[in-house]
Parts: sequence; C-alpha cells; structure tokens
Amino acid sequence: MALSSEEILSIFKKTGALLEGHFVLTSGLHSRFYFQCAKVFQYSWYGEVLCRDIADHFKEEKIDVVVSPAVGGIVVGQEIARLLRVRAIFAERVENVMTLRRGFKISAGERVLAAEDVTTTGGSVKEVMDVVREKRGEIVAATTVVDRSGGKIDFGVPYFSLFQMEIENFSPDKCPMCKAGSVAVKPGSRDLKYPNQSGQEGSNK
Ligand SMILES: [Zn+2]
Repeated sequence: MALSSEEILSIFKKTGALLEGHFVLTSGLHSRFYFQCAKVFQYSWYGEVLCRDIADHFKEEKIDVVVSPAVGGIVVGQEIARLLRVRAIFAERVENVMTLRRGFKISAGERVLAAEDVTTTGGSVKEVMDVVREKRGEIVAATTVVDRSGGKIDFGVPYFSLFQMEIENFSPDKCPMCKAGSVAVKPGSRDLKYPNQSGQEGSNK
C-alpha cells in the first residue's frame, strides 16, 4: 500500500521536518519553508516507511547500486538500497566538485539509481549523475523523497519522487521577507565540518 500525500505530510509535520520561517536553500534561493529530512530519518522506522514506496517503485529495475549526494542523501540512499538488497554509495563535494571517495567504485554498465532526500532544482542529483556517467555506469532513474519543484525537474531519465510540493522560492534580491528586514537562515548541516573537504556546505535544502 503506497502512502498518500496526507500521510507523508503528517509524518513530516509530526517529526518537525517541515520548518516555517525564512531560509536560504542550497540553490541560494530564499523560501518560507524548509524540509529538514534528517529529522524524519532520525526515526529509522519512518525512514523505512517512506523509502519502502520508493524501493517498491524500482524493485523490477534490477538496480545494482544506489548513489546519493552527501550529506542529506546518504541516509535515504542507504535505506532504499537496504530494502532493495543492493549496494549504497555516496558522492561528496571536494573543492566544490562532486566526487566518489572512500574507495567507492561504479563499474561500467552497472545499473544505478540516483537518490536524494530533498530537491529544489535537481542540482546535486544531476552532479551525481555526471559522476556515474564518468564511470560509465548506467543511470536507470532518479528519485527523491521530497520534490520542492512540484515535479517540474527534468533529469533526462525516469524520475520518481515520493512527495511533491510546489513551494515558492525567491532570489535574494526579490525576497519579500528580506525586504521586510528579516535575515534568512541556513538550517541543517551548516555546522558540519569535514577535515578533508573545503567549502562544503552540507545538505541544506
Ligand atoms: Zn530572503
């Protein structure tokens, strides 16, 4: 049984994952709403509930490996892969370039599912797809838990998002909240620091 949008939204609200305020997204855009997906996934059983629908969607696709962008995508990719009983790896930005580290490998022809927690513009997922193609992996599809574009992103491959919500985003110079004198905050993993990464912004959506 697939979850309804109401059930999913209720899980986000119950776990405090849907924040209201004035936020800067990874894309640089400002928004009144922010999905902190990690707050859902701290309750691992909810992570399983959400990812079950995604895994079910791809169970006939003979996925070999799920690849996610760090940081937010890691736990999502891991859970989808666990349910599909396949490998999970992640790519991370090094000097701002999405890269496979930690000895992670994708073999030529491997069937890859690119997975992310929340997306607004699809940027991080597309960067991961580029990494996979460099290794000559085959991108079977892309998936996200939350699509803030309302499903408008074109990844050039089949795309499944569990929950779509079209949320108004503003460029900083046109942001009504900035105009009203409020200062946008960047929630999420901004305080995470990695000793061997520079300029890494974490996974703010
Ligand atoms: Zn603003």
